[in-house]
Amino acid sequence: MPANTRTRLAVSPLRRSFDRRIAPAVDALVAELRPSEPLHCFRPRLARATARRFVARFPGEVLYAVKCNPEPRVLRALRAGGVQSFDVASITEARLVHQLFPDAVMRFMHPVKAREAIREAYATLGIRDFVLDSEAELAKLSQETGGASDLGLIVRLALPKGAAAYDLSGKFGAERDTAVALLRACRAAAPRIGLAFHVGSQCLDQMAYARAIAYAGEIAAEAGVGLDVLDVGGGFPLAYPGSTPPALDQFIDAIGEAVAALPAGLAPALWCEPGRALVGAATSVVVRVEHRRGQELFVNDGIYGSLSDAGAPGFRFPARLIRPDGAAANEMADFVLFGPTCDSVDRMAGPWPLPADIREGDWIEIGQLGAYGAALRTGFNGFDRARLVDVDAPPLLFTAGHPGA
Ligand SMILES: *Cc1c(COP(=O)(O)O)cnc(C)c1O
Repeated sequence: MPANTRTRLAVSPLRRSFDRRIAPAVDALVAELRPSEPLHCFRPRLARATARRFVARFPGEVLYAVKCNPEPRVLRALRAGGVQSFDVASITEARLVHQLFPDAVMRFMHPVKAREAIREAYATLGIRDFVLDSEAELAKLSQETGGASDLGLIVRLALPKGAAAYDLSGKFGAERDTAVALLRACRAAAPRIGLAFHVGSQCLDQMAYARAIAYAGEIAAEAGVGLDVLDVGGGFPLAYPGSTPPALDQFIDAIGEAVAALPAGLAPALWCEPGRALVGAATSVVVRVEHRRGQELFVNDGIYGSLSDAGAPGFRFPARLIRPDGAAANEMADFVLFGPTCDSVDRMAGPWPLPADIREGDWIEIGQLGAYGAALRTGFNGFDRARLVDVDAPPLLFTAGHPGA
């Protein structure tokens, strides 16, 4: 990473822990380390296997959405699992991927880019494919690449709200008429054109992809142009407590059927950009209980750390007690968690079912934090330290269609 990137990080980077051994199990590790800071437990073997399965099943190119976890160890595991391409959305992400894997394919999937980022991506980092959702961005891309004739231009579509936990069409995406006009303009400007959409993160309905693919087909037909690429985005879901998504294969099948039903002559190459589904299960975070107040537990990580999705977004996560020095009660009770900062919104309502006698000094392993966990940490209030260690353990919760499920 260039030096200027490092100095701008507001939060301490995750520090690699202790040695290069892979710990066999999280409990033994906690007994040995008795961690006083959040301990991120990364499962490289699981990440590799998940990548391998996704790449084997998806009938096209799998681009990893770097934003959801840019940790180099994670990127290396995915690469080892067969992920050759990366969806980057900032110049910092692009530099990082380029530094780790100089020969990797990167595609710049942010519809609004800084001019400097376009210039560096094209001239220095070898990026040729760019997403856009406006005429202004098309002009910017042409100007900053010196009128390049070797671009791939992908128009991002806005979609009506679907069944996803996070709607991603409110911010980006061209509406129908704009998309039609843009697609024609791109055809005139670039040898490779396509359409992209994002059904929203943690999409629980495979038919949301099918509807979006049919909609993309209508746009292409209306524009009267062929499509070289159809990018179905991310959004592939993970299991969480109380939320059991359809199996991965059902998503893949729905996508395949929808593509087969496109108007004759439209046979684009398929891309997808999974984030959460590739890496979410691979990291758990071990937190320590600093105080118990009734059914409330004060722990050393929270919404300003790796648990922001447990705050206002209201995600629930699998959790289990780790008490190296003795047995816990069989009886379970529901708890609310508070993070370490002084902000009263640093609260995670759960509910978190844990042994009824949980107390100060116990540890809790919280699963499914490999996506949008560490990547969203801040240094707020000084609680910015965390450790990272490799483990070889199953995930706390299996997702249908994923390895081991
Ligand atoms: C965030 C994002 C992704 C990854 O989404 P997941 O829900 O984590 O799969 C993919 N593509 C784009 C354009 C994104 O913004």
